[in-house]
Amino acid sequence: MANSNDKSKIHQIEITSLTDDIITFVLYNSNYGMANAIRRIILSEVPTLAIDIVNVYENTSAFHDEFIAHRLGLIPIDSRNIKQYEFRELCKCRETCSKCTIQYILEVQCKNRDKLEVTHYDIEFTGNEPNIPMPIPQGNKKKMNKNNIINNDVNDNYNMNNLDNDDNIKLENAIPIVSIAKNQMLKMKLIATKGIGKMHAKWIPGNVSYRIDHKVIIKHNLIDKLPREHKLLIINNLTNDCYTIQKENKNNGYNDNNRYDNVNGYDDDENAYDDIDITKKDIQLKLNENMSVVMAQNCIDLLNELGYKDIIKVVFDETKFHFKVETIGSMPPEQIVEMAMEILEDKLRSLEPKIKASFYSIEEVATQLKEQGVSLYGIDLDLD
Ligand SMILES: [Zn+2]
Repeated sequence: MANSNDKSKIHQIEITSLTDDIITFVLYNSNYGMANAIRRIILSEVPTLAIDIVNVYENTSAFHDEFIAHRLGLIPIDSRNIKQYEFRELCKCRETCSKCTIQYILEVQCKNRDKLEVTHYDIEFTGNEPNIPMPIPQGNKKKMNKNNIINNDVNDNYNMNNLDNDDNIKLENAIPIVSIAKNQMLKMKLIATKGIGKMHAKWIPGNVSYRIDHKVIIKHNLIDKLPREHKLLIINNLTNDCYTIQKENKNNGYNDNNRYDNVNGYDDDENAYDDIDITKKDIQLKLNENMSVVMAQNCIDLLNELGYKDIIKVVFDETKFHFKVETIGSMPPEQIVEMAMEILEDKLRSLEPKIKASFYSIEEVATQLKEQGVSLYGIDLDLD
């Protein structure tokens, strides 16, 4: 991501937290262009797999074919090995091949009971190839949560196949597709292909947002000098995490009957006031510098209304961006970011020669200017 020789200006990323679903990172020494490029590439150009074509052979459920097809399209499919797949329209095969399409079958029938939940675990791969990407959360009909036995929820297929009793248990983390009633059935062929968010939202790998870095600068000594009622107004306008109230001499004159919420008839759920002793003349209010921009602005507006200026200031750092990327489940969040970076690099790499081709080189410009008697920097006028 380096595009400058000056090391202090190299775009840098620091990962601040990483879980199975969410990655947060800080982008340093950067700018809005870069931050937005990363965001937009994640949303529209990182490829994933999704069910794109549904052939319906039998659907006697209460829901029509398109509704079910739409739901199937939104089920995340394991896309960790997405690079091994080719976009269908770019694939060299004539119609379909294992490089560009994955075929599943969804065949469920409700036989011996009133209702059956069809979930993503019912989607099966029919071929024999190993390591076929399957819908996420991954697993099969045997992946059960043994603590959630629901007698009604016995899947007929399991009985038919004479599987263990463990299989007659509610499926864990199942993504529901449709409920079918007695004697209803579904039989569909599902075709998953590689795609990007630009083509359809079902291929979007996750959610991404960023916010610009900010600092809330508070003149604490001026806050201390505010009258008690103004401090209470500030507290009233902020959420609990934006301030702390330091209690002075707890034992001195503290009386339950004088608790702020009781005396002033505030609702009991205004817990923020529970610790404030209003018999005291002063409240030791300490505002939190980590408060959000919205809260800080709230506070600034209030102080302005009360006639105070410049007690709180919000300063933005337009070179630092806080990112949050949350996967829909088809690939780990760090992979989404990594792939977005690769795509951005590829784009820049293909852009560079095009820019060079469309402009004169420095040498060419210098020669041309020299021919006109002007040097490149306009200093040395060579009028020979
Ligand atoms: Zn193909």
